[in-house]
Amino acid sequence: MTTREDEYYEGYGCAHLGSWLSFTPRGLSHCCIAYGAAAEPAVPGEYSGGPFDRAAYFASVKEYVKNNQQRKGPCRGCVYLRMGRYAAGFTQFKFIGLNHFVDNAAEPPYDVVPCLQELHDGQMLAKNAFISLESGEASRYPHLVGLGDFIIRNNYGARFNTNALSFSGDIADILRDGRKLRYAQLTLKNATPETYRNATGSDGFPLIVENAVRYSQLTERGSVVLRYVLPLASMNGVEYAGFLQLASDVRRRFVRIAPDVDQYVGNRAEYMKSATPFIRDLTHDLKKMDVDVKYSIFTPDELASIKE
Ligand code: SF4
Repeated sequence: MTTREDEYYEGYGCAHLGSWLSFTPRGLSHCCIAYGAAAEPAVPGEYSGGPFDRAAYFASVKEYVKNNQQRKGPCRGCVYLRMGRYAAGFTQFKFIGLNHFVDNAAEPPYDVVPCLQELHDGQMLAKNAFISLESGEASRYPHLVGLGDFIIRNNYGARFNTNALSFSGDIADILRDGRKLRYAQLTLKNATPETYRNATGSDGFPLIVENAVRYSQLTERGSVVLRYVLPLASMNGVEYAGFLQLASDVRRRFVRIAPDVDQYVGNRAEYMKSATPFIRDLTHDLKKMDVDVKYSIFTPDELASIKE
């Protein structure tokens, strides 16, 4: 199924609708469910693996598009809801997220591979589809080996989030097959042993760096992305220097800078007042070290100010 020209619309919308698929412990969703619609799985009905209900799913996408045009519904207030030109129907899934799976004690993480196989066989996954174990420690997903096998067999891109407190042989096996963009993403809010200890009570920072270095050495291009999530408390000289050191110690594929979502959504203007100069300087110094820098969540206007 492809999107025809008349299935595009101008107005408030979200590029994720119709091209993202999130598996959550309670159901399927057509967004990253990190913002706005987070509270509710988008597709009504319980889901814990198995066949994909195409009709219910796309009926739900249409409903969201209609609501967004009328500025109502669960997407309201989401940072990704913006004016633009969007597909009103299904294109192909480009991004598959497994959200809140591993750390959800109440729901056993189900196997997503049978559903992915069905989508793959039905040509509903884009050739460059990207599969991400979004939140939680990837190495604790009990179906990781089968998922890795599916990804490698079909040559999809993938990302595995890890806190790198331990080194996972299963993640390493998936990364080692480096034909496609596959990487372990290490998310940090603190970039020195001291600030990490203050925030978490753990002395694990040197271990994290050691494991990140091991992951990064698995492929020629490096297999680690350092994602630096910035709470206001981390915008100081100590953290700044610590992050530059980390980016130098770990052969990272690139660095991704993202806001602390709660602080950013809570008071965007106030947050950006401190974040803009901090990230601008950090970007400048990272680029001097030949580090590729990407960003998450910030709006185009905010990024323009950061990159000034
Ligand atoms: S606008 Fe936000 S909540 Fe709605 S589908 Fe897009 S990312 Fe999800």
